[in-house]
Amino acid sequence: MRDRVCVDSVAFARDAGELRGTVTTADLPRLHDSLFDQSGEIAYSVTGKVDKDGVASLRLDVAADLLMTCQRCLGPVKVSLNSARNFVLVPPAAALGDPAEEPDDEDRIHADDQLDVVDLVEDEAILCLPMVAVHKTGECAPPLAASGENDSKSPFSSLAALKRQ
Ligand SMILES: [Zn+2]
Repeated sequence: MRDRVCVDSVAFARDAGELRGTVTTADLPRLHDSLFDQSGEIAYSVTGKVDKDGVASLRLDVAADLLMTCQRCLGPVKVSLNSARNFVLVPPAAALGDPAEEPDDEDRIHADDQLDVVDLVEDEAILCLPMVAVHKTGECAPPLAASGENDSKSPFSSLAALKRQ
């Protein structure tokens, strides 16, 4: 069970708070199905502000190099995450509005005095990771002989053929 990193979102925005940290992907279970392994780390920073109209928001930056599974060769392929998003804080009782009308890099969330920052980081990573990852052409690991169907083309069978000559 990971440590929760919680902030009082409105107070954090009002105080122009700044928070930096890293979280290991081993602690982000909702990412596990997308990743090759759980060795990666995500660096994040959260900064709070209140604009001139009194609208409180948090800006979240995340950066990470993660390993996903290549859908062609099943080897690890590096995927870089680098994103920034603004979360406009909406009073708990108010409606969040239609997400379709928000800009791509902005979300409305309910103000929360126990806002879980790592949860936001996990959401952002899920949003930003590609659905599928593949290596660039020519960068896939050579297929292993495990499939069995390509036996005649495996390096071992050609080696065996050489030895027979
Ligand atoms: Zn590959």
